[in-house]
Amino acid sequence: MDGSSVIFIVMPGIALPYLADSRSGRKDRDMHTTFAARQGSGPVRPRVLIVGAGFAGLNAARALRHADADVTIVDGHDYHTFQPLLYQVSTGYLAPEEVGAALRAVFRRQANVRVRVGKATRLDYPGRALVLQDGSTLGFDYLIVAAGAEANFFGVPGMHEHGWPLYTLPDAVRLRRHLLSALEHATAAGPAAAPINVVVAGGGPTGVETAGALTSMARELAGPAVTLRVTLVEATSRLLNGFSTHSSQTALADLRRRGVDVRLGQTVQDADARHVTLSGGERIQTGTVIWAAGVKANSVSRGLGLKMNDHGRIVVDSRLQVPDHPEVFAAGDVAAATQPPSGQPLPMLAPVAIQTGRHAGQQVARLISGKPLTDFRYRDKGVVAVLGRGDAVTELPLIPGPPGRYQLRIGGRLAWLLWLGVHIVYLIGFRNRLQVLIDWAWKYFTSRGAGAILLEQAQDLTPDITVTDRMPFSADGGSRNRRPAI
Ligand SMILES: Cc1cc2nc3c(=O)[nH]c(=O)nc-3n(C[C@H](O)[C@H](O)[C@H](O)COP(=O)(O)OP(=O)(O)OC[C@H]3O[C@@H](n4cnc5c(N)ncnc54)[C@H](O)[C@@H]3O)c2cc1C
Repeated sequence: MDGSSVIFIVMPGIALPYLADSRSGRKDRDMHTTFAARQGSGPVRPRVLIVGAGFAGLNAARALRHADADVTIVDGHDYHTFQPLLYQVSTGYLAPEEVGAALRAVFRRQANVRVRVGKATRLDYPGRALVLQDGSTLGFDYLIVAAGAEANFFGVPGMHEHGWPLYTLPDAVRLRRHLLSALEHATAAGPAAAPINVVVAGGGPTGVETAGALTSMARELAGPAVTLRVTLVEATSRLLNGFSTHSSQTALADLRRRGVDVRLGQTVQDADARHVTLSGGERIQTGTVIWAAGVKANSVSRGLGLKMNDHGRIVVDSRLQVPDHPEVFAAGDVAAATQPPSGQPLPMLAPVAIQTGRHAGQQVARLISGKPLTDFRYRDKGVVAVLGRGDAVTELPLIPGPPGRYQLRIGGRLAWLLWLGVHIVYLIGFRNRLQVLIDWAWKYFTSRGAGAILLEQAQDLTPDITVTDRMPFSADGGSRNRRPAI
């Protein structure tokens, strides 16, 4: 039996079959002893706690659907966010509800899952409990940490106060309000209106897709009297690092054709309420710097006291178990899952989160049913980035190999259809899938894209949009509702 043996831990009124994996050793036994000691009399199901209901957390919970366990999934929000489509919310192409899925609805058919809204802050190891921000605690026998990532401003002066991150649904809704408000004011000012400058920092897939969508928004919503200029700033010498140079060049040519001012080899040096300064010294007047230039592991990983790598991601072994804590697993962006032969942490991408989340859930289910753990293997299915309506670049692996090696390159409408199919398949909830599909089809065939409305009345709109009306990003994911200093 692969170096494993079956042991029965006998407690008053309970006999737990326990499979001692030779690699897990004594700690697994301690874990079960703690669990058994909790019971007092009569069997109690193990408690599995999942922190974060992103791609990783949802898939971990789903992998536990047949487990004889009580699963609690705790998240700061009562909904799951489909982050890859946030830019479509901020540019008015999708409604917030279409990329958010209510967690209680997602799990209504999974009887062993309970949803708890709360913000995890730290772990109480001796008590086997997670402490929430409001001081309450959630006990666990097994813990899966899947708290995702957050914007990383890399200490760029002024960016924390004046940049617009695009990481959460509230971020996207705030940005949408800001952009629509800007268009409204420029329209009211008439021909004399100054151009609206939007700077997008970061030329990865998020920055490229956001810049492309902004040009469509400008064309379809701004009207002839209003000029919306988009500048995309990328630190390296090409867009879409991680794609082939051919796809990078296609993206560059395409965005420039759409009117995006692409600055390669430059960084945003600092920002204030009215300007950004680029590394070449140029100052651009703008109240809208969209930050797509970097993320880091969620800072909650520090509070949990687990071993982290230099980037704040939780160190896990080949089975996604946290070293020295056999009852704790980590998955998704927050975990530094690696893959031989490179040994480098896998990228912060949705497919990695989905697969690591599923694997972590399966490992806990295996522990509960006394089976040995298995190693995680990432299956890279390719990359895709949208350049605009009906246009994308896709790269796919034809032969299995290390992550990031793609042999097939597709561009244009076919790539866009692939992107559309993938997003529909992975969107959470049938209703969302249907709505988004209908929405996209309507917008594609009618060329009527951005259809968002401003909820504010005229007198509540920001008087001067070059002075940012944003509610600044705060590290705790909340926002401080500050009116502009005019
Ligand atoms: C704008 C944008 C576009 C992207 N586009 C793509 C793309 O096109 N393709 C792609 O593959 N990837 C893309 N990504 C990356 C992808 O979305 C992430 O890799 C993926 O969402 C990670 O999943 P996760 O479950 O690890 O974390 P998340 O999806 O971030 O989920 C983490 C969850 O944890 C919760 N949480 C955080 N802290 C706490 C706490 N202290 N207590 C309780 N709950 C907490 C959060 O509320 C959240 O629900 C994009 C990301 C962004 C931001």
